[in-house]
Amino acid sequence: MKMTSLMNNYARLPVAFAKGAGCKLWDVEGREYLDFTSGIAVTNLGHAHPKVTAALQEQAGTLLHTSNLYEIPLQEQVAGKLAELSGLSKAFFCNSGAEANEAAIKLARRYSQLKHGAHKYEILTLHDSFHGRTLATVSATCKPKYQEGFAPLMPGFQYVEKDLDKIEAAIGESTCAVLVEPVQGEGGVLPLGAEFLQGLRELCDAKGILLLFDEVQTGIGRTGHLFACQAAGVLPDIMTLAKGLGNGVPVGAMLAREEVAAAFAPGTHGSTFGGNPLAMAAALAVLTAIEEEGLLAHAVQMGEELRARLQQLAATDPAIVEVRGQGLLQGLVFDRPVGPLVSKCLEKGLLVLSAGETTLRLLPPLIVTSADLHLGMTLLEAAIKETSA
Ligand SMILES: *Cc1c(COP(=O)(O)O)cnc(C)c1O
Repeated sequence: MKMTSLMNNYARLPVAFAKGAGCKLWDVEGREYLDFTSGIAVTNLGHAHPKVTAALQEQAGTLLHTSNLYEIPLQEQVAGKLAELSGLSKAFFCNSGAEANEAAIKLARRYSQLKHGAHKYEILTLHDSFHGRTLATVSATCKPKYQEGFAPLMPGFQYVEKDLDKIEAAIGESTCAVLVEPVQGEGGVLPLGAEFLQGLRELCDAKGILLLFDEVQTGIGRTGHLFACQAAGVLPDIMTLAKGLGNGVPVGAMLAREEVAAAFAPGTHGSTFGGNPLAMAAALAVLTAIEEEGLLAHAVQMGEELRARLQQLAATDPAIVEVRGQGLLQGLVFDRPVGPLVSKCLEKGLLVLSAGETTLRLLPPLIVTSADLHLGMTLLEAAIKETSA
């Protein structure tokens, strides 16, 4: 066993990276890799994107942090841009996905309790969901493995099947919201589909409860739309973002429509780091680059190419059960655990992820080219051949 002062909570693969550019990474020995993980849907613009790098260098040399005791013009700018792009007019900034979901849970409860009374607090979440690792978000997450040993979990969540009738039946007097990922990422790349999301919107409206979308993984262009909810034509009451928003700089956001956001008055919620000038410079550069470089249309096109290649592969390999996903969030479902395949891909110079036991998850950056996809698929095909042999 290697001696380490680090806690043992990650099962790390035996490689350390020293440098990145675009879709490429180089390890400490100089070996090149193709990155189809984007740091788990974070570096959506690729590594060392020139506009993000320049914005960060400029901001780092000017002002990193002042606290939310004072006005932060860059926060206003990013919030304004997110409002214009999402249709949700108010933003709160934090530092991670779990924190954004914590904020969403708090806002949903507070809005509902102010409006309807203290009994209105329960949030429904779905089977196969993932909402984070803090105590509240792990309680919201329907996955026993992530909850073992952390009892008592936070009360006020109920897990339901992905079925509109079952969700309707589960909504009671105390229910204040439904929280879902438009495409469930960690759970196995499971798109909920436009019809389901539209049905959920109608159901929440009919019942007078809030609809919360966790777009921490699906947001910022990942599915070929800036937000996955836009593909379904559904506007939630609250949306959470993080991962891709800073292209690697930790930043999270909770967006909400005005009436709901009004439940947060001065002093009700806060964060020391949240929305500091460095994080906001990153987010602004990311949103600007996506627009200026036409990356959403590009991601749609590359997503279609990737999907076509995966479907070709699935048609020739009986071990592949299904191809599913949206845009550049694609899953290849196998009839066996994919752990050995992830390691084999690494050996070949291709970084990929798993999602659940049997789904291989591919998350190339939005800047990926046809040539990159071709190389990645060639490496993947070779890795599959060697692991099934
Ligand atoms: C990654 C993720 C989170 C948690 O984000 P952290 O930044 O790790 O706290 C929450 N929800 C979804 C859908 C995610 O993919």
